[in-house]
Amino acid sequence: MKLPIVDHPTAAKPFVTNEDRSHWHDDALWFVRVKRDRQASSVPEWEYLRERASAIKTHTIANLGEYLEQFERNATARGATVHWAADAEEHNAIVLKILRQHGTERIVKSKSMLTEECGLNPYLEDNGIEVVDTDLGERIVQLREETPSHIVLPAIHIKKEEVGQTFHTHLGTDAGASDPQYLTEAARNHLRNKFLSGEVGITGVNFGIAQTGGFVVCTNEGNADLGVSLPKVHIACMGIEKMIPSLADLSVFTRLLARSATGQPVTTYTSHFHGPKDDNSELHIVLVDNGRTRLRGNDTFRPAMHCIRCGACMNTCPVYRRSGGHSYRATVPGPIGSVLSPSRDAKSYKSLPYACSLCGSCSDVCPVKIPLHHQLLAWRGELVGNGLLPLSKRVAMKTASFLFQRPGLYRTAGSMGRTALRVLPHFVTHNRFNTWTKARELPKPPRESFRQWYIANRGNPQRRDSANGNATAHTNTRSNGDAS
Ligand code: SF4
Repeated sequence: MKLPIVDHPTAAKPFVTNEDRSHWHDDALWFVRVKRDRQASSVPEWEYLRERASAIKTHTIANLGEYLEQFERNATARGATVHWAADAEEHNAIVLKILRQHGTERIVKSKSMLTEECGLNPYLEDNGIEVVDTDLGERIVQLREETPSHIVLPAIHIKKEEVGQTFHTHLGTDAGASDPQYLTEAARNHLRNKFLSGEVGITGVNFGIAQTGGFVVCTNEGNADLGVSLPKVHIACMGIEKMIPSLADLSVFTRLLARSATGQPVTTYTSHFHGPKDDNSELHIVLVDNGRTRLRGNDTFRPAMHCIRCGACMNTCPVYRRSGGHSYRATVPGPIGSVLSPSRDAKSYKSLPYACSLCGSCSDVCPVKIPLHHQLLAWRGELVGNGLLPLSKRVAMKTASFLFQRPGLYRTAGSMGRTALRVLPHFVTHNRFNTWTKARELPKPPRESFRQWYIANRGNPQRRDSANGNATAHTNTRSNGDAS
């Protein structure tokens, strides 16, 4: 399927230029990041756990075929039916076939980014099946006909007043109500009826365990458990990278996942599924590739398969926090999404590796130690190598390279640039061709270059002493002296 070209700066513009929403979103995610930090620092062996998780994932991905076959054998021995899907189309067709076999008209589904990736909801709805997302955040975005903007907090971009409006329209709550307790209770009543009438329960999978043939689903609302407890048929959709070798390995990941995701010591429900519930029930596990084998074959980007979808890299990313998840136009946004999406289609997602300041904060928080910012930098190299860099960037880089090799010319250009910025009209720098100024003002240009400032203030010890004796002058000069 041909995907549209995503231009991140353009896609981010409505969110970034809405200062109120952008700052509120930034603060909300930073709050989660701080909670994560508190939890991480409360575990003395945190770094050891990250090392272990990374090593387990490296080993599992290296031996993935073996572990998948072991998983299939053990799951089948427990009475589950294992299906293999090469891509999204095959995944959707398998799920539909199972639903048709049971004459299903309505399914209840807990949160699964894989089914988002495969476009399962619209596919089933096109085939006459009602899909009810049962995770509260997912239900909110479903009612609003939106997609999740975050892999753990799907409705993080929506304010409680907007949720109240949505519920008033769809669930009949009081107009203007925005009390979270009231709205949550309304959602609970609404979903309870849906649970009772769901004919098949669909869940994602957080971890598949080769040793036992079982799998684990982590939720905070218990909706996965309720969704599969009542129907006779449970379909679990699982990306092949979710495999881990043993139960002992699971303990490493469960200690990392919730702490990294939401700053909780553990997810409220960590549910284990081993075969169908009883003799009258069915458990189907759909193992999905959809480009994962191709990613596994790439030495540089293979570590991206270690991702346990905790969302910590999004919560910490200054670009994601300010531009919102929808600006990535991808199922998985943020730093990991900017690594994964171009591997799916480099041309369509070529702008995403540039939606990054290379600050490295994502790599610092990643519980499985994916070197995210290095991978984003590597993607930029790939894009340049494949001729996918836009002409404007290519010209800018060539010009910079030319100037950096000629110090005299560089100094002259810097001086001219500082003067030009002071005298030229605003529209010369702030226009639709300059994505850098779409949502920000340039700092006031200094009169001197950093080099000139340094020679004046640091190059001569006598001048330095006199500069140190005048703290105010020193500070003022420094704050203006970083332009070139
Ligand atoms: S890349 Fe790391 S931090 Fe980001 S979602 Fe995946 S596991 Fe979490």
